[in-house]
Amino acid sequence: MKRRHFLEVFGLSPVAALAQQGQPRADPVETMTPGPTPAIGVCHVGFHPNARKRVVVRQQAARSFVLRDIGSGPAFQQEFPLQSAASDLGPAAMGDFSAITREGLYQIRVGEELSPPFFIRPDAWRRLLPTVTSYHRAQRCGVAVPNVHPVCHLDDARRRDTREHIDTTGGWHDAGDLRKWMTATMMNAFGLLALHRHLGAAWDLAGSGLAPLEEELRWGNRYFLKMQNSDGRVWADVAGGVNGDNSDNHWTDNKIGTADDRYLNPSINGLAQAMFTAMQAMYEHAFRDSDPGYGAVCLRAANKCWQANARKGGVTELSWWLLAAIELEQNATAEQIVDILLPLQQSGGYWPMSATDPEPYKHAVHGALPPFAILEAARVLRRTPRGHSCESAVRRYIEHYVVPLCDRSAYGIVPFGVFTGSPTPERYRTLQRNRTYRFFMPVRKQFWWLGLNAHLGSHALLLAQAARDFQQPAWRDLAVRQFEWIFGNNPFGASLASGIGERNPYPHSRYVGVIPGGIMNGICGNADDEPILDTTFRGNWRTNEYWSPHLGYFEWAQAILESS
Ligand SMILES: [Zn+2]
Repeated sequence: MKRRHFLEVFGLSPVAALAQQGQPRADPVETMTPGPTPAIGVCHVGFHPNARKRVVVRQQAARSFVLRDIGSGPAFQQEFPLQSAASDLGPAAMGDFSAITREGLYQIRVGEELSPPFFIRPDAWRRLLPTVTSYHRAQRCGVAVPNVHPVCHLDDARRRDTREHIDTTGGWHDAGDLRKWMTATMMNAFGLLALHRHLGAAWDLAGSGLAPLEEELRWGNRYFLKMQNSDGRVWADVAGGVNGDNSDNHWTDNKIGTADDRYLNPSINGLAQAMFTAMQAMYEHAFRDSDPGYGAVCLRAANKCWQANARKGGVTELSWWLLAAIELEQNATAEQIVDILLPLQQSGGYWPMSATDPEPYKHAVHGALPPFAILEAARVLRRTPRGHSCESAVRRYIEHYVVPLCDRSAYGIVPFGVFTGSPTPERYRTLQRNRTYRFFMPVRKQFWWLGLNAHLGSHALLLAQAARDFQQPAWRDLAVRQFEWIFGNNPFGASLASGIGERNPYPHSRYVGVIPGGIMNGICGNADDEPILDTTFRGNWRTNEYWSPHLGYFEWAQAILESS
């Protein structure tokens, strides 16, 4: 769909008056906008030979770029034109060198500026997987990780309410800290489970086979299984902080019953129930042949959680319950959830937050989960009227919402989302009627705003799967573009993963420092929705902290892309 059509869908009108709300204190990172250089944005990971290959230059006057092979092969150099590109993320010129398919190590030159070197080779992305998956090992809790940290948290944890000690050792530290949130750290498992399912032993080109993936999966599940209450429901976190604070974010003496023991939060949230059920069902699929006994344990846990909970909640929870139903082959329930979700889709292609909250769906982590779950349902319900409706809904989301929004910047990223009016006193970019959008999360709404690499990764997952199911290669290109932004094709020319690409900021990782393969929260926007990134060692968590969901969605999407 062309942008004009998109504008017609939303309708055009002035932005609503700014809401009068209290403003959170400005964060110093809000002033960290891109300098004049580097102007070249290109993916540092490189490109598959058959992929679409783009460069973005933040100099509208630039007319051409030179691509040169700087590797050991025969000399090669070619000049390409740059076209001025309409972009809501600032003036830019765009170049395309998709015609170059020969393998090599290349560099781009624009004027006097050189880009970081990058490869064109078939395994450009695949070769990252061992580095990225090694991140999970470094984040293990309850064991010494040589060269990373000594044995930790053998005294996890005491219940917040009864103070009873419950063994909840194991699992992974979630981020640049030592806490163990269930909803976030389960994303590590989804990433690994997806690699296991879609790539099998071929996931590692070095031939390590499935053993390392399965060992890591079991380590995570030690903790997850312990977090299931006897009634089948799962608790929220260990060490999340007693009053929403950082009080449990510390190393301990590993002795049960001493003052530094951390707390188990026994509260029950709907999202954790749905994710846990889907995840344990996927564990059963992964292990049913190699270790049927372990697979049965996981399936029992999934069924117990399924039976202990009603399938309800907002669109996020219902989408995860839909995935759980599909994994458990509960097709009648899957159909019921589909019958709730499909009628909620709006004419603009997006979903609302819930049946009772019409605000367009936005989620910093599971940004594309509703259409992805519906796409999974389409496969199960194939050749039924409901299956056809699911396919149409996903097409509508991509064609009427994702593609037109991606067209609004030279980088092709999916903005954070669409809003009704201007709910907080900051910039909302005009769409139509009372609809606005921001590329990045609002910074005047609440304390919690951060980079959106998981949101981009979840859309990459949707687009990768839909490209395969609907034979739409352009959607695959759009999937890869989300990762090109994360790995260097952005206004800072910076890769947001440690040890991959260049100009990585130092991570907000206060306990163990740099972890190779760790993916940071990513570029945020300031009040003007202009990109910001801490490149000056201020330790800002909003842009530079590692987080499980980014890894999870990257691995999940790569599993689809690399098996297509
Ligand atoms: Zn630990």
